[in-house]
This record gives sequence, C-alpha cells and structure tokens, in this order.
Amino acid sequence: MTKKKRSHRVQILRVAVALLLGLTISVVVAWRFSAHAIAQRKQAPATTWNAVPSGKGYWTFSVRRGTGWTQIDANASATDLPASTRLDIDRTLRPPAWSKIAMAQSDDPDSSVDGQAFLRWTDVATGWPMLALRFRERTASTHLRSGAQGQIRVQVTTQYGYEISDRSGLHNILPLRPVWPGFIVNMLLFAVPPYLLLVLVGSGIAMIQRRRRLRRGCCTACGYDLAGLDGSRCPECGASDMTT
Ligand SMILES: [Zn+2]
Repeated sequence: MTKKKRSHRVQILRVAVALLLGLTISVVVAWRFSAHAIAQRKQAPATTWNAVPSGKGYWTFSVRRGTGWTQIDANASATDLPASTRLDIDRTLRPPAWSKIAMAQSDDPDSSVDGQAFLRWTDVATGWPMLALRFRERTASTHLRSGAQGQIRVQVTTQYGYEISDRSGLHNILPLRPVWPGFIVNMLLFAVPPYLLLVLVGSGIAMIQRRRRLRRGCCTACGYDLAGLDGSRCPECGASDMTT
C-alpha cells in the first residue's frame, strides 16, 4: 500500500471514529436532559394555543420549554373551556415540525372526548444545543363505574421511548426517535472536538516516529534501514525524501 493510500484510509477512519463519538455524546446529552427535565417539566409555565373542538369537548395544545427540552401537550377537556382559560390562548402559535401530536390525537380511537375522564398526548424532545431525540406519552383515564367518584383507571403508554428507573426509584424515559435536523447537527458539532483530538494525536505520533527513524538512519516514510545505501530513493518504498 502506498503512503498516500494509507493516509487516505487513516483520514476516513478518523472521520468515522469522530462521527461515532459525536453520535454517542449527542445521545448521552439528550438522555441527560431527559432525566433533568422530569422534574422541571411539571413546573415550567405553559403557553397554550389552539383550542380545537372535538365532540362535546375541546383539545387544547400547550408548550413548555427549558434548557435542552421541549414538551408539547394535547389535552382533551370534556367541557367547554372556562372564559379565563380562553384569554390565555395564543391562536398564532403552531406546534413545532417535529411534533406530530395534532395528527396523533385525531387518529386516536378514543379521541372523542366523550366518556374519557382525562386524555392527554405528550410529545417530549430533548437534546442540546438542538433538540435531537423525542418520545411520546399517551395518558388516558376512564371512570370505572359511570358517574362514580374517585374510581379512575389511569393508563400511560410510551412510544419511541425506553423507560428506566434509577436506584432512587426516579422514573425516566430515554427518547429514541430522532428529531431532524437537530440529530445530525448535534452529532456533527460533538464530532469536531474528537476529530481535532485524533488529528493532534496522529500528527504527534507521526512526528515522534519520524524523529526516531531519522536518528536510527532509517527511511522516514517506511522505516527501512538505509545503512550503507547512498541513493536518493528508498529501495523499499521509493520515497525520495527518506532522510529529510
Ligand atoms: Zn522507505
């Protein structure tokens, strides 16, 4: 293999390793923000928009944001919205492109608010500096006996996420579905430091190797022992700059 071909291969390997590291770092960062957001998500103020009539009730959409996460909720309310809530609704807001929640709730077989004590779709995206991964939660609760008080069955279904519980029993969901283009952008950004590090380490090793070969009187390109030879080309690899 020629020197040029080999350095080309090294370059490809370097980029591949850096991208793999970038991908790993961006996923770990997104998962960390997902864990952090668990507590924050409940407390963050929500902006509500677009109350959509459905059957006898309404769907309201709201967004909550924090560093490294965004949560979109679609809440079904069985009654008409109180006048005070209606004042807070910003009808100019639209859900972000990554959230298909408006479609999800309209596809839901239970989406007629009738008969549901509570129905909510939640889309959560996490990642930094851009949102990179997302998951979805569907929370439904039904009255066990019609008209009965207190007896409610709550069912939470998670999509595109992996549920874990840490040692303290804290519940977390690791988002698994990519959010474009944030997934790619974060991966590339986090690949830059590992790439530079690999280039630095690579050139350091090359420099040390070159010095050692010069000191021993070997070809600097391939390491062939040039003792007793006075040609201008290395007989092993053909390099002409073998002692420079
Ligand atoms: Zn050589």
